[in-house]
Amino acid sequence: MLPADEANLAAHAIALITWHRLQKFCGLCGAETRPESGGNARLCNDSDCANRIFPRVDPAIIVLVAHGNECLLGRQASWPEGRYSTIAGFVEPGESLEDAVRREVWEETNIDVGSVHYHSSQPWPFPASLMLGFTAIANSREIHLNDGELEDAGWFTRKELRSGFPKLPYRLSIARRLVDDWLEDGSAP
Ligand SMILES: [Zn+2]
Repeated sequence: MLPADEANLAAHAIALITWHRLQKFCGLCGAETRPESGGNARLCNDSDCANRIFPRVDPAIIVLVAHGNECLLGRQASWPEGRYSTIAGFVEPGESLEDAVRREVWEETNIDVGSVHYHSSQPWPFPASLMLGFTAIANSREIHLNDGELEDAGWFTRKELRSGFPKLPYRLSIARRLVDDWLEDGSAP
């Protein structure tokens, strides 16, 4: 309901409030910490330690994988009935974003991903994620739900997606933006 600039401020505030709540004690020495720099950092109260802590952001990838005239969508068992979305997951320590895309898609669907291109991003401060959106081209088609994170996954044509089934992600989500851009870009695979 908020204009974009106010929504960004609210997201920033929510992320910081949550972070402060979780960082009351120093991870190095166990002493209490206090906010500083206007709330953008915390400092350990033990002057010998003086550990300074900054808010963390957890990168996660979300990707629309296409093959020919179809795109790959999956659904988790907890989602509303009939809703499908793009593949997503957290980036692991020491991993590139491109490798995270290829690993997550393989783990969840067994699809081998070829080229990967950055699309756009969306902060998701619940509590500290940054969604990094990609498009990718698949090198294979046979789906297998390797890690059991998804209840179902499938290939869908633009005609199917425009018909109302499956139900698509919420309008403000980056997942929906990825799907809508793919739908509009009817000439490209
Ligand atoms: Zn400390």
